[in-house]
Amino acid sequence: MIIDFHTHIWNTQLEKVDEFVAGLDEGGVDMAVVAPIAPYMSNADVARHVEKYPDRIIGFASVVPFSETTGIPRLDPADELRHAVEEMGLKGLKIHPLIQGFKMNDPGLAPLMHAAAELEIPVLFHTGPNLGRAGRTSNALIEMVEDLALMCPDTIIVAGHADPLSVAGYIAASNPNVYLETSISWPHRHEVIPKLAAQTIRTAGADKILYGTDYSIGRVHRIHSMNQLLDESDLTAEDRVKIESENAKRLLKL
Ligand SMILES: [Zn+2]
Repeated sequence: MIIDFHTHIWNTQLEKVDEFVAGLDEGGVDMAVVAPIAPYMSNADVARHVEKYPDRIIGFASVVPFSETTGIPRLDPADELRHAVEEMGLKGLKIHPLIQGFKMNDPGLAPLMHAAAELEIPVLFHTGPNLGRAGRTSNALIEMVEDLALMCPDTIIVAGHADPLSVAGYIAASNPNVYLETSISWPHRHEVIPKLAAQTIRTAGADKILYGTDYSIGRVHRIHSMNQLLDESDLTAEDRVKIESENAKRLLKL
């Protein structure tokens, strides 16, 4: 079984959920975490996708942590998160420090992180560059994951796109509440350094790695390249199962 911990259904694709699921089938993915990015995408749309495909789609919420950075007035982010989890049934939180314009070690995040801990849901952070799109990469340096993890030790923090060529593996190894998600950066690095993935898995521990691809409609190749990486990484069957599904099941209580 494969659970993809990082996928998107963009606003232009809201009525193409069947096509999204067909891509999962093509890539061999059983379930996918679909994450919006507030305020540009809505939690209600994600909840609607889950309603249509409850066995395939795991819905995450997104809230704007600091409304002054987008200029759009919002509810209290912790209240908005509670509503999304308790009333809409969403299973995690996605935060994007580049698009949403804040530094991920900002102490002002603590109340929102505390709410996530109380709700017992993981928080998926974008880390690293934004593939040529808007936003300051310095808002989401991987080192800041550790600052946040130490500031909020009860919150499960998933570093999205966690670069295996960085200190990500060491941060996951030394902070019990930090997990690494593999999308984009792992297959990119694998093309030039084929042994890197296995080494990072050894450093962090296979219990701390989550299969992710950042798949969206039209990008099934991202799933294929992640599967290829795992095929070529010479992992034990036990470690592969942890990375592909067991760790996600544990965090998401599936
Ligand atoms: Zn994303």
